[in-house]
Amino acid sequence: MRLILLGPPGAGKGTQAKLLVNRFAIPQVSTGDMLRAAVKAGTRLGQEAKRYMDQGALVPDAVIIGLVRERLRQPDCAGGYILDGFPRTVAQAEALEKTLAALHASLDHVVSLEVPTEDLVLRIAGRRTCKNCGAMYHVRFSPSQTDGRCDACGGPTYQRDDDHEETVRRRLGVYAEQTTPLISFYEARGLLRRVPGTGEIAEISQRISAALGA
Ligand code: ADP
Ligand code: ADP
Ligand code: ZN
Repeated sequence: MRLILLGPPGAGKGTQAKLLVNRFAIPQVSTGDMLRAAVKAGTRLGQEAKRYMDQGALVPDAVIIGLVRERLRQPDCAGGYILDGFPRTVAQAEALEKTLAALHASLDHVVSLEVPTEDLVLRIAGRRTCKNCGAMYHVRFSPSQTDGRCDACGGPTYQRDDDHEETVRRRLGVYAEQTTPLISFYEARGLLRRVPGTGEIAEISQRISAALGA
């Protein structure tokens, strides 16, 4: 199965993608995670990307498209994948169609996670991520058992550099402007599945499964 998780920052794409990885045994392809790994490794791509990420702006399409094209050709993507945080612009969505066509593949579903803006700001402000394994927590809504420690691996949890209020507001603006056109883009292709993204994490996961017909 090839699917896209579409939704604003804080909608729960990463959280839900990790549950889908377990259910369908296909990898999560998160451009945000790939970029943060490049920043951490100090590669040239990482250094360039960081400038945009710190400002809450999108990394240029050409950089992202190259990154994803290479990733989707890896053997672990042969049986499908969950795209999380990509595509984010119409140009990226069009590039994805070309890449898929070249691989004689097509998308099965685009899940649009719908969450009110007030909730997004609260979610992002309290988001914590494990430095080792990437597990996701929220200081109020989904805390780890020991403050600052990951339940899964014991690693330290941290707040992302770009998860501060001013940058968050900018990212929400960028989403509204550059990413929301993808909703009608995929609706026109009959791929869009709208899923309410508020409520318990497990409940949302069940809604997604229902929307996928699984
Ligand atoms: P969130 O989960 O909050 O939506 P991500 O981890 O997906 O955030 O992305 C963090 C940052 O990485 C974005 O603000 C942007 O700068 C960059 N980024 C991630 N994916 C893309 C993409 N597909 N196109 C352009 N920039 C991206
Ligand atoms: P995205 O990848 O879309 O930016 P995340 O999956 O990182 O979103 O979730 C953002 C924050 O919200 C995290 O701290 C996560 O623990 C929390 N979160 C995820 N789903 C829910 C939910 N259903 N209710 C409350 N908080 C949630
Ligand atoms: Zn961990």
